[in-house]
Amino acid sequence: MDRKIKGQNRAIELLEHALTENKVASAYLFYGPDGVGKFATALSFAQALNCVASKAKRPCGVCISCKKIANFTHPDLMHVFPFPMPDGSKGDISVQGEIRSEKLLKEFEEYIENKRTTPWKDYFFSKNSGIRIASIRMLEHRITLSPNEAKRKVYIIENAETMTNQAANAFLKTLEEPPDDTVIILTSSKPNSLLPTILSRCQKIPFQAISPKVIEEELLEKRFISPVQAKLFAKIAGGSMAKAFRLADEENTDTRNTSLELLQMIYNKNDLKFMEFSAKIGNKQHQALLNDMISQLIIWLSDINYLTYYPEGVVNQDRIELLESFYQLNPKIIDRTPELIEFLELMINKLAGHVNPQLILINVYNKFLETLHQL
Ligand SMILES: [Zn+2]
Repeated sequence: MDRKIKGQNRAIELLEHALTENKVASAYLFYGPDGVGKFATALSFAQALNCVASKAKRPCGVCISCKKIANFTHPDLMHVFPFPMPDGSKGDISVQGEIRSEKLLKEFEEYIENKRTTPWKDYFFSKNSGIRIASIRMLEHRITLSPNEAKRKVYIIENAETMTNQAANAFLKTLEEPPDDTVIILTSSKPNSLLPTILSRCQKIPFQAISPKVIEEELLEKRFISPVQAKLFAKIAGGSMAKAFRLADEENTDTRNTSLELLQMIYNKNDLKFMEFSAKIGNKQHQALLNDMISQLIIWLSDINYLTYYPEGVVNQDRIELLESFYQLNPKIIDRTPELIEFLELMINKLAGHVNPQLILINVYNKFLETLHQL
């Protein structure tokens, strides 16, 4: 299996054992936090199952089968993922998988392209999404056909907990009698939201939060950043390699620009603009964006601290002026940084729960106003 996947030795060992002992299950559940390599491991496992290289070398990564799987073009690999819900216009996806809406098709292609080339980034659909009955019907249809060119057909169902009730019940039937030549892999960060009847039919492979040390090493190897920054990003990433990569890549991304926009509103005490802003992005659909944005605020605070005693450590080098203005507003912000960071970390945790995201955003805004403008 692919040793490029860092920090998941246990999961990889379990799968390698299944491969070498010829004890591959017909259904797996890869569960664990977001951004720790569940999907990457599923792809690697799909490759190993179909690779033509000698057993010890699978997946080789270079044979035609491995390449097609890496490119998402293998006819026997099916990838099911949360997709925008239908809005009344029934039949926007046919059983054969034909997407009949141009807009949906474009988003579908963008999602796959993102997954293929920059999987650590989040892709935002234009609407709320979930795993739809149409996708499960398509899977049912495909599963009855024999493999085109593979030894085993592999179905990866990403974020399986987002299945609608209807989809989950239909899927259960497939799971009860899977054909011999298929392997179904569910991935989920919320396995408890899956039907118990689905859970009990899958072999469970646990994935863990990745240690800051491993993330730090990976960042230094893969990104052109300073050791100070690598340590900072690894600490804020909360065990998610994907998030660490996003933080390291965030110069000129939407997330960073949105965070700067928010900081500008805080600086100007622009309540009116903030209310519009929070109404627009303070929802579950933007949860990942909000999570990264709050992390950007942590980086911002750490920058204000670095400004005076170690300017080279500043991440937002192109915003020195704004950083200085923040410091000027209330130099005591330095003393309050630990408390503020603790508060922001708490907000990130709350975001994962059932709290209204807009409320969290408002709390963050108020906390910064209170601290900076000494309200
Ligand atoms: Zn291969």
